[in-house]
Amino acid sequence: GNRNTQSIIEQTEKYGAHNYHPLPIVISKAEGVWVEDPEGNKYMDMLSAYSAVNQGHRHPKIIQALKEQADKVTLTSRAFHNDQLGPWYEKICKMTNKEMALPMNTGAEAVETAIKAARRWGYDVKGIAENQAEIIGCVGNFHGRTMAAVSLSSEDEYKRGFGPMLPGIKLVPYGDLNALKESITPNTAAFLIEPIQGEAGIIIPPKGYLKAAYELCKENNVLFIADEIQAGLGRTGKMFACEWEGFEPDMYILGKALGGGVFPISCVVANKDILGVFNPGSHGSTFGGNPMACAVSIAALDVLIEEKLAEKSQELGEYFISKLKEIKNPIIKEIRGRGLFIGMELKEAARPYCEQLKEEGLLCKETHDTVIRFAPPLVITKDELDWAIERIHKVLS
Ligand code: PLP
Repeated sequence: GNRNTQSIIEQTEKYGAHNYHPLPIVISKAEGVWVEDPEGNKYMDMLSAYSAVNQGHRHPKIIQALKEQADKVTLTSRAFHNDQLGPWYEKICKMTNKEMALPMNTGAEAVETAIKAARRWGYDVKGIAENQAEIIGCVGNFHGRTMAAVSLSSEDEYKRGFGPMLPGIKLVPYGDLNALKESITPNTAAFLIEPIQGEAGIIIPPKGYLKAAYELCKENNVLFIADEIQAGLGRTGKMFACEWEGFEPDMYILGKALGGGVFPISCVVANKDILGVFNPGSHGSTFGGNPMACAVSIAALDVLIEEKLAEKSQELGEYFISKLKEIKNPIIKEIRGRGLFIGMELKEAARPYCEQLKEEGLLCKETHDTVIRFAPPLVITKDELDWAIERIHKVLS
């Protein structure tokens, strides 16, 4: 029938649990950096589904892979082999320079996988006494919504009413090397960190911190696990955000753009001495490593590489930040970012500005109340970026 924005939102609000607070817009079509509502109004996407559509909406190469695979086989479970998983394994291992990968579906599940791997590594390899393993995380982190991920969180609202929380977790201030040093004990299995904190508001740690933290972990036989679910795969202007400090973490956690915004797939990748701790029966997922996800992911990774989206992100990100810094308005507290992963922190609530930007045709979402995140699909052109900058200037000047 004749479904308009208002009736769709009413239906959604009536039957859906209210665990989100979306802007009042319905997206019914999308291509590249553009989305369209049922009335035919066009908007530029400046969020990229929290960086899951780095390759742009419905990238033709990724859609083609999806369609071709849909005509062959979609799901086998891991009770049997499928012919897409092997090629995907090889691709992701070569890209990350690691020996092994383990596929899941969502980011939070990959985080769970990383924690399980770290704990078992702690017992089986490092020799920590049974049930004593500790994971160190950072204040302000976001690793997802499962119990382990919320147990790691420092946000009361993410945890309220969901206890008891997972034990064996310590938090240290983000960017504080000394605090990390002091919190490491012989029972520490891993340090889990976002190289740039996304949901916290695009927080970039002090220069040299990540590398120093990695070296500290090495000295203490502690795994350094980089949650690059949001920051990885080109978003920050490098394929992986850890590259900014020239080191390779022991384990990457990847998700979001790994499926090109087309099909959910996430994973952890590490060397055999770590991921080798999993044996049949110890971990798994019915949909993990399914042929649709693998076929789509191979295409999604190809697009990142072939279209040099990391390099593009770096170049356009620098330009974008320089243009944002031209806005003279005392309510702007700070503009920060790496590549096309940019936060504009205000001295007041960001939501009204996001609503005004929407009226101008630009879809942004506030994060942590006072930060506007600008993270367009990495396929954005300079002309399209100029179009956005003009509107941002109008709303924020
Ligand atoms: N880790 C990071 C750094 C994230 O940004 C997110 C999602 O925003 C997650 C984990 C959780 O991913 P998912 O929502 O796919 O479970």
